[in-house]
Amino acid sequence: MSEPTSLRSHLCGRVTADLVGSKVVLCGWIARRREHGEHLAFLDLRDHTGVVQCVVDASVDARSEWVVRIEGTVQARPAGTVNENIRTGSVEIVDCVVTTLNKAEAPPFPVDSRADDVDENVRLKYRYIDIRRERMQRNLRIRAKVNSAIRRAMEQQEFVEVETPFLMPSTPEGAREFLVPSRKEPGSFYALPQSPQLWKQLLMVAGVDRYYQIARCLRDEDLRADRQYEFMQLDAEMSFVGVDDVLGAISRAVVAAAESVIGSAPPEIERITWRDAMNRFGVDKPDMRFGLELIELTSVFAATEFKAFAQAPSIKGIRVDAATYPEAAAAGRNKLDQLTDRAKQVGAKGLVWMRVGEGGALDSPVAKFLGDAEKQNLLTRTGAVTGDLLLLVADEWSTTCEVLGQLRNDIGRPPVHEGPYRYVWVVDFPLFVGINAQTGRAQPGHHPFCQPHPDDIDRLETDPMSVRALAYDLVLNGWELGSGSIRIHDPEMQRRVFRHLGITDEEADRRFGFFLQPFRFGAPPHGGFAFGIDRLVAILAGEENIREVIAFPKTQSGLDPMTNAPTQVGDAQLAELGIRTLPKPAKS
Ligand code: ASP
Repeated sequence: MSEPTSLRSHLCGRVTADLVGSKVVLCGWIARRREHGEHLAFLDLRDHTGVVQCVVDASVDARSEWVVRIEGTVQARPAGTVNENIRTGSVEIVDCVVTTLNKAEAPPFPVDSRADDVDENVRLKYRYIDIRRERMQRNLRIRAKVNSAIRRAMEQQEFVEVETPFLMPSTPEGAREFLVPSRKEPGSFYALPQSPQLWKQLLMVAGVDRYYQIARCLRDEDLRADRQYEFMQLDAEMSFVGVDDVLGAISRAVVAAAESVIGSAPPEIERITWRDAMNRFGVDKPDMRFGLELIELTSVFAATEFKAFAQAPSIKGIRVDAATYPEAAAAGRNKLDQLTDRAKQVGAKGLVWMRVGEGGALDSPVAKFLGDAEKQNLLTRTGAVTGDLLLLVADEWSTTCEVLGQLRNDIGRPPVHEGPYRYVWVVDFPLFVGINAQTGRAQPGHHPFCQPHPDDIDRLETDPMSVRALAYDLVLNGWELGSGSIRIHDPEMQRRVFRHLGITDEEADRRFGFFLQPFRFGAPPHGGFAFGIDRLVAILAGEENIREVIAFPKTQSGLDPMTNAPTQVGDAQLAELGIRTLPKPAKS
């Protein structure tokens, strides 16, 4: 409970019936003024706890968003005028003395839910007014609760909070970095941390044992609903642990955070391997709130004469039932063309659709190429019944997953913040993904410090793409909340992995010697994790966009309409940094 201050005795939203007859002194902003006859006016006085109605003399000069102090007496509202929708709805303040603390210009938008429809640039330009609104006050307070629950959960588990530097060298974690020019060393740059990865691993070498930090991370990547240049992570690292220990510790923090907002703990966090996630959901961040799972059909068509299927290494399908997609059976050519276009856009050569009619008759352009046994097996394997729509992709395994995973989400995925909350650990990510077209070298699945899976290490040189990492992600309702891994603690193993990434021993020493050298001085086995607090808070607050839970976010184009950042700086300042800028490239 906040104590009274020298300016006020109570908070607006907390003046309730138990105070009837008491004198109160309130401070806040005038949310609304309504004239009541010739002599009286109602002022709704607002602070962060809510609004309370004050009855004042009509001569009082006080307008919308003025900051005032009102002294008065709490009185029960006359019968018939009680407002059940607000906590203070059964009382009002009378005999008011109003002191203006500050006048205000008319606000650029209404300071209530109507501002939800105002252009976001305007909301962000006047963010300090936007935040006066109940929605934003609520979101920021949810965020604070989550932070505090996380801290408590980590401290209970004896994690030690350590702050790590903001100015650091560039590291090979994968994201584009923000660079800061050095004045003392013109031409040299610091990088802002894309995460405290380097430092937290060094803290393990340093014997800290359990580290955590609610850390600001910066990545110069295109912004989206779930991405900002700057974002907050719970960042943690532990020594002498295996995968289960890390997942257990982080789960406790996630559960505590969710409980602090929702009031009850989420169900136990499920676990799925990366390969299963891909096979069943087609993506590595599966949204488990709905079915529509991918069905493996390669063996159904093992002996098919239909060329497009016979030549494909993998065939998968989804069974779209009428309940999930009421248009399924009756899907007209337009709808089917749209689905086909979407499949092609994601990378398929084509999409095979089949409408299941009476008695299992398949209505499809390819039906005539399939044998009766194949059709029957298809129906049995998919469980399809009259009224369903089958969507099939025949291609490389990764393409069938990717395309059907996308269609599954397009067709069935509810908005991210809609309950129920389905947390899932995705484990055993591949150590490497794809080959970088420019370097011809593998790319790290997560980052280059992940420990290869002990069962796969002997294939590291012979079949690197099949090697799993002790790396895992936490996913909530189809959003990746965070990731982590058991780390490599043996410098020789680190070099082997670097070599696959095209980083020679000499280059590794030159670029990351500061990181590799400490590992020669007794690095314990260790592992860790980081998860995005903005994303978790957004979902818990029922918001679809992380900007709604960040006090001062950037717009989707990375700008701050309030401060106009990024801004130009003068030539003198640039010269001091040894920088000359090129003319802006012409807009194409
Ligand atoms: N540093 C990683 C990240 O920010 C997380 C981790 O591996 O601990 O994604």
